[in-house]
Order: sequence, then structure tokens, then C-alpha cells
Amino acid sequence: MANPKYAFFKGKIVPMAEAKISVMTHALNYGTGVFGGLRGYWNDKQEQLYIFRPIDHFKRLLQSARMMRIELPYSADDLTRLLVDLLNAEGYRENCYIRPLAYKSSEMIGVKLHGVDDDFTMFALPFGRYVQNEEGAHVCFSAWRRIDDNAIPARGKIVGAYANSSLIKSDALLSGYDEAIVLNEDGHISEMSAANIFLIRDGVAITPPVNSNILEGITRRSIIQLLKEDLGIDVVERDIDRTEIYIADEAFMCGTGVQIAAITKVEHRNIGDGTMGAITSRLRDYFFKVVSGQIEKYHSWLTPVYEEVPAK
Ligand code: PMP
Repeated sequence: MANPKYAFFKGKIVPMAEAKISVMTHALNYGTGVFGGLRGYWNDKQEQLYIFRPIDHFKRLLQSARMMRIELPYSADDLTRLLVDLLNAEGYRENCYIRPLAYKSSEMIGVKLHGVDDDFTMFALPFGRYVQNEEGAHVCFSAWRRIDDNAIPARGKIVGAYANSSLIKSDALLSGYDEAIVLNEDGHISEMSAANIFLIRDGVAITPPVNSNILEGITRRSIIQLLKEDLGIDVVERDIDRTEIYIADEAFMCGTGVQIAAITKVEHRNIGDGTMGAITSRLRDYFFKVVSGQIEKYHSWLTPVYEEVPAK
């Protein structure tokens, strides 16, 4: 992974080396930050970098901030403009990943949310695959449970909550799996460590509802629309039992990092015939066309970065 040259930090774009915080920062000590993750897709033919659904990502960031009593002087439109400026400074001609982070910035001791200063930073780096095995991931059921809305709300992308995701992901990877399915305390499927999940049963797509301790994924929302409107596939949002994945025809995970990755094996069991299913494959092909600006209907999801194309 290449390092970014710049960061948006304390109100302006600065060289990365200047974007430093103190060890006493509240967010570092208590996990009191909220973040986002967006992707920029490079279209070589059009020589354009497209940011995928920035307004929706920044709206969710502001909602997460609200839950954590983090106040920012920016709207979703302002944050999109800041991001366009940042990406123009970087001049990427390749796919990239963008990390906005709003955080409690006071240098102090004290576990609370009120009366603590807030700040915002953002950086972007070139980025390829997040899950190596996008065409056929082998996953397990995590022994960890998903955080509950009454403990740390999963619908907020809260820094401290990613201790849960990190425990899940490392145990899965170090046991030889690509990812893990995470169950709620009640035993129903919630999501992956950092991605949402869909099953296909008898031609219908099924995904856990927004009140099942999931992050309300922008990719999930996009896929629901693409499946229904463009691929003619019904989508049902309902609780999913663990054993449904054993008998599903197809399964896939989705998210900004993961994009769309087929799940073809869960522990010692194949899903379907153990290879990427037909619907997952069609959806994946279509999704990559949408995000890279090849489908007219979805141009409104994309914000172009460059008025002037950066030199090679
Ligand atoms: N769930 C979790 C826990 C995540 O961290 C992510 C990645 N942001 C997702 C789902 C997918 O969300 P999105 O499609 O908005 O990236």
C-alpha cells in the first residue's frame, strides 16, 4: 500500500508528516471517534476518478457523529468538496480508498462525551483488494458475538466498536479463513467483521434487516436497488438462521472495502456447488460497471474528481 502525500487536518490540507495527534488525545484513549470508508474508482477510458456515493457516506458519518456527540462544522456537501480538493492534491490515476475520521480531540483524562473538543481529519490512499479471495472466500462462524445496539451501536461506525471487528477478523485469518460470519446474541446472522452479507435461496436474495446490529452499508443499500431494479431479483430483509447458509444456493459479502466477494465455503461445507454462483457473478460484473461510471442510470451516484486530468 502506497502512503498518501497529504491529509486534511485541523481545517486544511497539509503534508502527511504534519498530520499528527498527541498521545493524550481522547479518541485514542477511549475509542471516541467515528469514521467512514469510501472508494474512488479510476476510469481509464474517461480519465476520470469517480467517488462512489460520497453524500451518502458523509451523511452516515454525520449520523455516527451525532450518536457520539461529535459536532462538525461541515455538511455532507462540504465534506464532499473537501474530499474532491484532497484527491486533486493527490492526483491519483488509480482506485483509491478514502478514510474520513471525526474524533474527540481534547488532550485530557475523563470518560465522557460532552465537554470534549471535536476535530476532523481525512486521507486517501491507493487501494486494491481488501479480501484476497473475492471470487471464492472461505469463511467461518466467529466465536465472537456482534456488539449490541444497547452496548455500542453497530449502525454507527464508531472507532471503539472496531475492537469487536478486529477480534473477529484476526481469529478468522489466523485460523486460515478469509473472513467470518458474526452472530447476534440471539444466534441470528448479523454481518461479517467489516461487510454485510446476502444469501441467495431459490432465486431470492435475503439479507439481515437494519435492526440486526449491522452497519447500514451503503454498498448493501446499492445492491438491494441493483438486484431489484436491474437484475430482476427479489430482495427480502429478515432475520437469517445460522443453518440457512448451509442450504443457501449462493452467498456473498459486500462493503466498500470488500466490494462484492463470493462466499463459497463455510468451515467444512461448500455453499451451493462451492464456486461463485450465477447471481453473485452477474451482480459483481454489473456493480463494477456501475462504480466505474459505465452505467448511465447510476451516474448520479458518482462524483467526478477531476476537471483537469492529472499527468501520468
Ligand atoms: N459492516 C461493517 C461492520 C463495516 O465496517 C462495513 C464497512 N464500512 C460494512 C458493513 C459495509 O458498509 P459500506 O458498504 O457502507 O462500506
